[in-house]
Amino acid sequence: MTTMPAAFIGHGSPMNALETNRYTDAWRRFGQSVPRPRAVLMVSAHWYINATAVTVMHKPKTIHDFFGFPPELFAVQYPAPGMPELADEISGAVDPVWVGRDIDSWGLDHGTWSVLVHAYPEAEVPIVQLAIDASKDVAYHYDLGRRLAPLRESGVVIMGSGNIVHNLRLVDFSLGEQPYDWARRFNEAVNEVLTTEPSRILELQHHPDFDRSVPTPDHYLPMVYLAGMADGRPLEVMIDGYQAGSLSMDAYLLRGSD
Ligand code: ZN
Repeated sequence: MTTMPAAFIGHGSPMNALETNRYTDAWRRFGQSVPRPRAVLMVSAHWYINATAVTVMHKPKTIHDFFGFPPELFAVQYPAPGMPELADEISGAVDPVWVGRDIDSWGLDHGTWSVLVHAYPEAEVPIVQLAIDASKDVAYHYDLGRRLAPLRESGVVIMGSGNIVHNLRLVDFSLGEQPYDWARRFNEAVNEVLTTEPSRILELQHHPDFDRSVPTPDHYLPMVYLAGMADGRPLEVMIDGYQAGSLSMDAYLLRGSD
């Protein structure tokens, strides 16, 4: 039985959708290296609501959920199909957790399409988004990742899209690729856990730099889903780096098997 790989992507600025850089190159290589999936299940930082829910539309719309960017970015369309029938499989996998079905409110947000325009530029692979329940603690999301893992055996590539360190208030573009000391400390602590024993990720909420690195959990939690899926196996670094001092661009891979 083939097990699909899974990944967490640090997506950074929405402008990465239009740019070509070493991060977007890594996302493209990931898409090319994976056997063609039946669907991608995407856990995006930008669908952060008070419920666990999935998109079930046949044609999810492209959502431009940002302000102050150039018109070219608002013109991006990612016309991938949805896969409404995947909702039953997801509900079955995470039972008894209740999974809401979104028929018309969300679609594909920029956490999803800014990555997928590189990973799957033809937009031919069906995409389903999973909402992050903002009312739940980190352990809930870790456990949900663990429960979703069996979908990898039925041709589904599960991806998280966020940023491990994400403090927009302290963004300083003059810093370029240089991180703040606290950002580096926390990011390296996460790296140490994910590449050795991902099940220890819950301990990092007590790290002295957690609050500054993760002022809100939305961008952090997509990584926690991948840690849950790993079920104790180490993750591999897909690409690493920093932008604007307070953003970590690290991406991680959970290898599949034939
Ligand atoms: Zn974001």
